[in-house]
Amino acid sequence: MKALLPLFPRPSQYLGNEINAIHKDRTKVTVHLALAFPDLYDVGMSYLGQKILYELANQQEDVWAERVFAPSQEVAALLQEHELPLASLESDTPLGELDAIAFSITHELCYTNILYMLDLAGVPLWAKDRNQNHPLIIAGGGCTLNAEPVAPFCDLMVLGDGEETLIDLIHVLRHRKQTPCSRSELLRDMASIHGVYVPSLFKSKGPEMSLSPVDEDMPLPEKRSVADINTIDFPVRHILPFGKPVHDRLTVEIARGCTRGCRFCHAGMVYRPVRERSLSELKRIIDQGLAATGYEEISFLSLSTGDFSAFQGLFMQTFTQCRSQQVAISLPSLRAGSLNESLLSRMATIRHTGMTVAPEAGTQRLRDVINKGISEEEILEHTRMVFAHGWQGIKLYFMIGLPTETREDLDGMLDLCLKVRATAGKKAKRMQITAAVSPFVPKPFTPFQWEPQITMQEIEDRIEYLKQIFKPYTFLHLKWHHSHMSFLEGIFSRGGRELAPVIERGFRKGALFSSWSDHLHLNLWLEAMKECGCDPAACIGGRDINLPLPWDHLHSGVSKQFLLRERVRALEGKLSPDCRYNPCRRCGVCALDGHPSVLTQPSGEVPLQPVLNKTQRDQCEDTPYVEETNPDQEHLTHKACHYRLWYRKLELSMYLSQLELQRLFERALRRAGLPATFSAGFHPMPLMSFGMALPVGVGSQAEWVNIYFREELTEKDIVTRLTDQFPQGMDIFAAQSLTMGKKQPQAVAEEYRITFLGTPEQRAASLGAWQHFIQGESFTIEKTNKRGNIVQVDLRTFVRSSTLEKDGITVIFDWGQGYTNPLNLVTSVCPDISPLQFAMIKERQIM
Ligand code: SF4
Repeated sequence: MKALLPLFPRPSQYLGNEINAIHKDRTKVTVHLALAFPDLYDVGMSYLGQKILYELANQQEDVWAERVFAPSQEVAALLQEHELPLASLESDTPLGELDAIAFSITHELCYTNILYMLDLAGVPLWAKDRNQNHPLIIAGGGCTLNAEPVAPFCDLMVLGDGEETLIDLIHVLRHRKQTPCSRSELLRDMASIHGVYVPSLFKSKGPEMSLSPVDEDMPLPEKRSVADINTIDFPVRHILPFGKPVHDRLTVEIARGCTRGCRFCHAGMVYRPVRERSLSELKRIIDQGLAATGYEEISFLSLSTGDFSAFQGLFMQTFTQCRSQQVAISLPSLRAGSLNESLLSRMATIRHTGMTVAPEAGTQRLRDVINKGISEEEILEHTRMVFAHGWQGIKLYFMIGLPTETREDLDGMLDLCLKVRATAGKKAKRMQITAAVSPFVPKPFTPFQWEPQITMQEIEDRIEYLKQIFKPYTFLHLKWHHSHMSFLEGIFSRGGRELAPVIERGFRKGALFSSWSDHLHLNLWLEAMKECGCDPAACIGGRDINLPLPWDHLHSGVSKQFLLRERVRALEGKLSPDCRYNPCRRCGVCALDGHPSVLTQPSGEVPLQPVLNKTQRDQCEDTPYVEETNPDQEHLTHKACHYRLWYRKLELSMYLSQLELQRLFERALRRAGLPATFSAGFHPMPLMSFGMALPVGVGSQAEWVNIYFREELTEKDIVTRLTDQFPQGMDIFAAQSLTMGKKQPQAVAEEYRITFLGTPEQRAASLGAWQHFIQGESFTIEKTNKRGNIVQVDLRTFVRSSTLEKDGITVIFDWGQGYTNPLNLVTSVCPDISPLQFAMIKERQIM
């Protein structure tokens, strides 16, 4: 599909030559697979799970795990028009030729995108229609513990942590490539791997009966957990994405799992038990990760970052290092009560990223029902400290439609927002308080899995009520989640296999990218459900606790008895404190040896001594750290020398935009340890300036960027240290010292080589059009100027000379009187030319 790059919008998302992307010789690998993400590149490149599996799988010499993302619909249309299949990012191999395609499923609204990608790859959608020649379709990720609606499209699913399971799957694939067998034998081999679920080996024995194995002696699939995450290699060579991904920073997973026990939280139940990375391992990851990426921001990831038992030590150790390197630290998911004055005072000196707090419910009664475990006093003390340290606003996350919710709870949201604002004291008037409201969706494997979800109408009514009561308080901002999305999420999150035809029908109707509000077309989904005889009201309704659930044949480690007990405690408004520091609640996850329990017996009857039940925090709270150095801001802004770096931008790198280049250079300098001078101010940036922007899709043998450095450097030093720091097709070939403080020369003319491609007739037509242009005295076109006015422009004035050759032309463009985009100039002169019919390379700049 790379042949169509000149036609793609945002082509850099399809290059696969990012820094740290792994390329291997296809002929030398035994197992060749794609890690697929069913959403756009910008979303998928922010997903940590794929980064972990990518590095892990590729550590094996004979395995090549590539990436593939859902292409935009414009790109999909181009692939179909040119009859080209969806291909892997790195090697451009059609997906249908691979051994396996492993999808990460992180939410329910991406289900149709899986079919979209399979269809573009020419792979049959239903597992039953595939044969020996098709790749294995694997699904993993946070959703697979109940992804029954997509189970019939998957050959197998990975439950729980994927690291060890993926390696086992690769092992079986490798073995079966050397000793071929039938597809059904291969699937049975796979089914014996701990953490693997093969949907085709499970059938329902009748209405209202759970799924059971076709072979009676087959054990039920069970979630797999990595017992000690310190033993698994965490990726440090993150691929540096092009474009603007949702998260573009070094994401460091500090812990996995959470035992706070929030009763609505799927992740908090299924990722148990809590497993933390050691401080020394985190230090290694951060050191090596920054060195390998040049990132200017890091982020700590876990379900509840503030609950990390050595959070203060981790923050202080990282803070000292990051401050001296101008690296920002982002701290998502901070729980009220997890910050103290000393942490906040340091955080305030780095960067005021948005501060959030998640009370989830407006009253203490409802917070106790959901087992949130934070009091109003703790929330208010938290916001008081945040405001006292200079934050100008805070966002509060709430849910509506939680079990037992009343009007009083909705009123409580307003009341809490007003109290939070008051904690700012005299500065309250300036504070921005935002309440972000999302509808509650009951999730499988939680104590609320049997509860009804409120209807779309009820969601809208409650949001309307909140809008009314917030209206008089213009200083409060109310934001809400789209009711259509929550409705669909609710249908699919507790659905069974009967929803698979709805997903296929939705896909055929064009219901794609449904998690993007501008792409969500509820009418298509409602039509699909109606045509398949699916009753949406029943899907989101309450469930009988005595009837089987579609996910009963899968084991998350947490027992149903525990969930039922927690449900009763919820309705009684009783709290179940965190089992890490309080008695074990016998959820079933921890057995004596710390491995997930098999759950063949009710956990209530097992005398558990859980490994996680501790009386104090696991890692020392006051971990020693190096006292912060006093960062010398003046030192960072010091200008010791100024250089012009000359570089080539050819082959795939032609498709990088000017904005992407800026980030590439910034990070290359960091990786190379070249001390760029920073601007002063709140967001210091390296001082660099580029020449005229090269159009995307045009190559260059001679581009430049001027950079100030804060230490004396030699030309050789700069060029040597920047060798291999750029994507394939780009390299620095010279560094030229500039006189400090002088206006630097710009190109007054540039020489381009234009090669005409296509059929002999097309080439002849293009050459003829150019000849006609050159022979004419003027060539006037209409153009819209920066003010939006239409003006006449004579393109002939931009051409100093032109030499016709056999297959193209060499032109010297003259920018003495102004600049025009050379790519547009060519398409104006040859209006019938397609971007696939010519290539343009800048050969030199004339100063
Ligand atoms: S078994 Fe006990 S200690 Fe382990 S996660 Fe469950 S409640 Fe907590």
